[in-house]
Amino acid sequence: MRLSRYFLPTLKENPSEAEIVSHRLMLRAGMIRQSSAGIYSWLPLGYNVLKKIEQIVREEQNAIGCQELVMPTIQPADLWRESGRYDVYGPEMLRIKDRHERDMLYGPTNEEQITEIFAASVRSYRDLPKLLYHIQWKFRDEVRPRFGVMRGREFLMKDAYSFDMDAAGARRSYNKMFISYLKTYERMGLTAIPMAADTGPIGGDMSHEFLILADTGESEIACHGKCLEMDWAKDIDLDGDLQPIVDDLTSRYAATDEKRDPEVEKALGDDLVTARGIEVGHIFYFGTKYSEAMRARVTSEDGDEVVPEMGSYGIGVSRLVGAIIEASHDENGIIWPDAVAPFAIGLVNLKVHDEDCRVACDETYAKLQAEGVEVLYDDRDTRAGVKFANMDLIGLPWQLVIGPRNLKNGIVELKRRATGEREELSFDSVLAKMRG
Ligand code: ATP
Ligand code: MG
Repeated sequence: MRLSRYFLPTLKENPSEAEIVSHRLMLRAGMIRQSSAGIYSWLPLGYNVLKKIEQIVREEQNAIGCQELVMPTIQPADLWRESGRYDVYGPEMLRIKDRHERDMLYGPTNEEQITEIFAASVRSYRDLPKLLYHIQWKFRDEVRPRFGVMRGREFLMKDAYSFDMDAAGARRSYNKMFISYLKTYERMGLTAIPMAADTGPIGGDMSHEFLILADTGESEIACHGKCLEMDWAKDIDLDGDLQPIVDDLTSRYAATDEKRDPEVEKALGDDLVTARGIEVGHIFYFGTKYSEAMRARVTSEDGDEVVPEMGSYGIGVSRLVGAIIEASHDENGIIWPDAVAPFAIGLVNLKVHDEDCRVACDETYAKLQAEGVEVLYDDRDTRAGVKFANMDLIGLPWQLVIGPRNLKNGIVELKRRATGEREELSFDSVLAKMRG
């Protein structure tokens, strides 16, 4: 992409409405634009990152046999009357009437919708277990939308749902998700710590929130210090018995606000760490709450009628864009982890009016593209300082600088955004490096 043609409305000044760094940087880097409180348009750069994150989430869901579908954003109220949640849900739910005065709503989550789909089409134990997910916009009329996409009203979520014949099966599905979440965050360059979360009326130990530690996080958490150093995303055979692995990974104390235990914390002494965290995912086993109410029934091998056991599993896809920035930035701007970067490399032409320089840049641009490398080519007629500042702000992992002086010696400068390290290389070695 040529920057001269790219729609990248960057801001020089810090927007005054933004309280935290990720929100400020997303606005300054031209990633999003607010439409109304907690509702945003995603501009090309931001949308690019959102899609990268979405794709990692998708691949890791597919890897555990979870199948993608897509359910509507607008749901009929009657579905929620069946589960009994229509009246309970509260003002976070956006309620709408259609032209026939029928009650509709903009989905804040999809347990009812997926259970209806399942109940209508699955009858036999042979079809179970089933893991289904979608990546879809949600609406929750939050009391206090803030921090940009971190607590939006409209936000993108991956929500998955599991259906099993019994509690043991449900636990297997839960464990698969648990492991797959760790892998998902690790691929994005994040360390997300699973923490015991409230299970509600069901009880048990099958609810975890995944949190990234950050001072701007909204959750207060406490954990064993070792949790901060652990290798969470070990290579794990997903077809093996996951229970001992999950038991091991959850053996150390790690709890969010409502699950904190003063006794345990006192006993931990110096090993206790308290911090703030950003919730980037939440997995939950809730048994037959929805399958019972919405009359999902499956015939067992013995011919008995069984109410399937369910769980739901959310990842805050749009929140992750902000969370990654909170975890990875410096005073000059964003530092994208390679896996979610909107472009792998920024190519900076230091002197657009120098014919040799222009030709060298154009050729390098073409070659990189031919190699399948995603390049943002700053071919604008602007001062070098502006170009550098812009590149640092938008945070592409690599910057390739081509100027007339180095060019005479057949050399270009490659900078790693994260470390600021610069190397002088030949054209060929840059291509080889980006290819590898
Ligand atoms: P929170 O406690 O942050 O309000 P929640 O527990 O209500 O979130 P869940 O229903 O568990 O949220 O939703 C799954 C995931 O969706 C969360 O872990 C979070 O990452 C994301 N999410 C929830 N609410 C929002 C929001 N208002 N804006 C952006 N992402 C959100
Ligand atoms: Mg939650």
